[in-house]
Amino acid sequence: MSTTTESRFSMGQGIRLIDDAGNEYLDGVSGTFNLSLGYNHPYVVEKIQEQVGNLTHMSSSFTEPYVEEVLSLLLEEAPNGIDAGWMRDITGSTANECATKIAQKYTGERDIVSLYYSHHGQTQFATGISGNAFRRKGFPNSTVPNSLHVPVPYCYRCPFQSDPDHCAMQCIEALSDQLEFGGSGSTACMIIEPILGNGGNIIPPMEYFKQLRKLCDEHNMILIADEVQTGIGRTGYMYASTLFDIKPDIITLAKGLGGIGVPVAAVLMQSRLNILEKHEHSFTSGSNMISLTAARSTMEVVSAPGFLESVRSKGELLGNLLSPLAELYPDTIGEARGVGLMWGLEIVDADGAPDSRKANAIIDMAFRDENLILRGSRYGFGNVVKVRPSLTVTEDEIVEIVGRLERILQK
Ligand code: PMP
Repeated sequence: MSTTTESRFSMGQGIRLIDDAGNEYLDGVSGTFNLSLGYNHPYVVEKIQEQVGNLTHMSSSFTEPYVEEVLSLLLEEAPNGIDAGWMRDITGSTANECATKIAQKYTGERDIVSLYYSHHGQTQFATGISGNAFRRKGFPNSTVPNSLHVPVPYCYRCPFQSDPDHCAMQCIEALSDQLEFGGSGSTACMIIEPILGNGGNIIPPMEYFKQLRKLCDEHNMILIADEVQTGIGRTGYMYASTLFDIKPDIITLAKGLGGIGVPVAAVLMQSRLNILEKHEHSFTSGSNMISLTAARSTMEVVSAPGFLESVRSKGELLGNLLSPLAELYPDTIGEARGVGLMWGLEIVDADGAPDSRKANAIIDMAFRDENLILRGSRYGFGNVVKVRPSLTVTEDEIVEIVGRLERILQK
């Protein structure tokens, strides 16, 4: 997509972006999947404006009461015994580092396990623990953490060529083998995205999560759910961990927590894991007052009665409109998969092989010909076109997004 060279956007409202020439675009992917409440949500804007007038920053030594307010909203709907939190991060990358540091400190162990194709951030450490090796290729001399990557439960293209309806969960077996025989023999944790976001909107089967929890218990490993993309209502539930019954020990959040794109992150955990000293993981702008205000007002909106129900019913509509496209255009769409407002179209060639060039062409044409913003994974595993509008999208807008997309598919 050539937005950076061709367009200068100067205004946003809801899911619409308007450029200097007055052209209006529909954003089908919530910015960088982070505008959970769309551009310039009025309530969040009002609260931030109020806050800017009062106090933009103070040392994190004094922000505790404000952090507690956000955490109490976050913890209200948190799953199974998750009752503590840490809000000294600005990005998802360092929130994941925080979670892995906790796991290492708590267990006294070292290695971090993750899935192929996973994405956990872009610091050197977060890139190292991610399964998408192409992001490391340019840095052959970088220091990488002790991390192990295991096959992804990607049923549409099972890495073991199994039939997903009759499979023996070889992906779990591979993980089990890795834990027994791989790495340093000292494994602190497994980190997993409930839906692999950048990896292609891959949704592991529920049984995988069940077996994963069992393995983590057997090996005394901490289970970290990286909900940077799936958290804060994206799947129609506050946390995808609840939807898939993952029972994680730690949940990391960023992106959608800032509502209108304000950078903020959080790490939620069982209180036994709340063991970091402040000097062990803090950043100058972590728990900044603007970020905390954005997070608090976003949580007020998302946890209001009926909000998540509406995300679920809009998600159903989006799924009902996208799913038939795979049957209508089998030479282009191999599978449409998603939950809530987190969908991906796996783009294939006429033989069913992954076709990232076609995926990129669809994204480019959507932008150029239909003023529709979509995103894919342009590098590495890049044949999935993502559709993830803001949670505040209307039903009419969903119909409009899919209508514009279908016009591209017809070309
Ligand atoms: N985890 C996941 C699942 C992500 O998608 C991302 C960002 N794409 C990150 C972590 C890193 O978040 P950030 O860019 O805020 O560092």
